Amino acid sequence: MDQVEEIRSKIDLVAFISETVVLKKAGRNFKGLCPFHNEKTPSFMVSPERQIWHCFGCGKGGDAFGFLMEIERIEFGEALRLLAKKTGVVLQSYRPSQSESEKDKLLQINSLASEFFHFLLLNHRAGKKALEYILRRGVSKESLVKFKLGYAPAMWDVLQQFLVNKKGYSLDEVEKAGLIIKSDKKIKSYYDRFRDRLMFPLSDHRGGIVGFAGRVLDPQAKEAKYVNTPETILYHKSELLYPLNITKEEIKKENCAMVVEGELDAISSYQAGLKNVVAIKGSALSEEQSRLLKRFGENLVLALDADVAGDMAARRGIEIADKAGLNLKVLSLEKYKDPDEAAQKDPAYLKQSYQQAESIYDFFLDSSFKRFRGVTSEEKKKIGQEIVPILAKIEDEIVKNHYIKQLSDRLAVNEEAIIIQIEKNEVKIQPTLPVKSKVVEPVKNRRQIFEEYFLALVFQSKEFDQLSDLDNLILEPAYLKIGQQLKNYLTENKKFSTQFFFKYLPAELADAYNKLYLVDFGDLIEDKDWVNKEIQKTKFQLETLWVKEELQKTFRQLQEKKNQPQESPELNQKVLDLTRKLGDLEKRTFGL
Ligand SMILES: [Zn+2]
Repeated sequence: MDQVEEIRSKIDLVAFISETVVLKKAGRNFKGLCPFHNEKTPSFMVSPERQIWHCFGCGKGGDAFGFLMEIERIEFGEALRLLAKKTGVVLQSYRPSQSESEKDKLLQINSLASEFFHFLLLNHRAGKKALEYILRRGVSKESLVKFKLGYAPAMWDVLQQFLVNKKGYSLDEVEKAGLIIKSDKKIKSYYDRFRDRLMFPLSDHRGGIVGFAGRVLDPQAKEAKYVNTPETILYHKSELLYPLNITKEEIKKENCAMVVEGELDAISSYQAGLKNVVAIKGSALSEEQSRLLKRFGENLVLALDADVAGDMAARRGIEIADKAGLNLKVLSLEKYKDPDEAAQKDPAYLKQSYQQAESIYDFFLDSSFKRFRGVTSEEKKKIGQEIVPILAKIEDEIVKNHYIKQLSDRLAVNEEAIIIQIEKNEVKIQPTLPVKSKVVEPVKNRRQIFEEYFLALVFQSKEFDQLSDLDNLILEPAYLKIGQQLKNYLTENKKFSTQFFFKYLPAELADAYNKLYLVDFGDLIEDKDWVNKEIQKTKFQLETLWVKEELQKTFRQLQEKKNQPQESPELNQKVLDLTRKLGDLEKRTFGL
């Protein structure tokens, strides 16, 4: 057995996928909402027998490796390494690709830099001022260690010295990690990007440090409050959620994430007991962040700035999260400027506000009425301009209707007026809606559907006696071959094993075979009587279909041979025979 095979055999695919997707049992299979496209009814299937998954919505499918590659957007090599680690298989001859080794190297560099900064903050006199500052800001010593906070000293090349001279990395590598910057003035001269800053290491959800955020200590300083790692091969701002690697389990447990704006908001909320927190760095959720969050919970409580309703970027982010199928609520902190301040001064209030978070649409309405009153016709117009586009995008008609009514009540105008405005808006937004390209599975004809159903019944129930006469029943070449291979297999082997038979099959039949295990019969597949009846029914249908097809063929031949009557007796006889057969079949079908 090669190592890939060994790893595959050690993974329970249902348990593995359940770490990311909520799966429910559906007969022999498991079903869930596809993590790769947006859907509200499950079309994502996992077959424990075949150890494969397939989505009937977007057409994606594969094994454990394929799932991991797709969900983490990584190459095969990285998936192999992750799964080897998970299953305790020691890889013998594995050579990482160039981009993998490069990523690895940058992760090591970031990790060393983080240790360096952390050491300086906690143990070195250079970090004393920063340590005093952050403790004064209310971050506990325990949190400093947990979140690995650090300090970058006010010097131009101290990190460069450490990583290049002491640890032996090249300037080019350290620059690629985003930690040093090439100087314009002197050729081949670099300086440290982060100087005199409190350092927050930024990890991806698996814990690898992909970048840093550096915050000034002096709030009066002229420099930018935050400096971040630029986009590198590791760090992508739109994908990062801080500190998801630490809070993801809590988010899973609560089925909810509290979303804040900055690193300190996240740490303070965590200290206050709201451990299911992530920071998005800014006010707008990206598509990648929404998709990532959805893997850990279905609900979001947004604790963003109060002016979020007027902020177009934030509204766009809310739309994205809504489209991703996340339920959104908004926490409003009336008394404090941000979650950090609330957590420091009044943790109980923050928790209470979290519990009482209101629906996103109530929030939009309240916020708009607070700003524009809604008494004069001009004010009403302003509220309408802000709220109507939001209502127009609500997908659920009942929810939409509820808020139309609310708005009409509060504005004291009739609902029709609002509905007309919404319709005008829908016309306006429609042309710009992105056209989603969907992988469409080839349309199957009636015969293919019956054939697949029939073989799926036989294989899932292991009623192989039913396959004794395949002629006339199965015509699709791939299915016909699978049937013939099964006959051969059963003469050579006493017992049928899904896995052994899969290996026995030629590779080009693998897909067709796997699909047979994804047909969803629910619990009925366990019911022997039902299975046998269903097999008989499908057999009759296939036979009937065959007779009808043959009849049509013969009729066509008769037409063609109109001018040569000497050929016709045989064909005429054939028509008679087939018609009789059809009659017999119909009689038998009625007997069922
Ligand atoms: Zn899908």
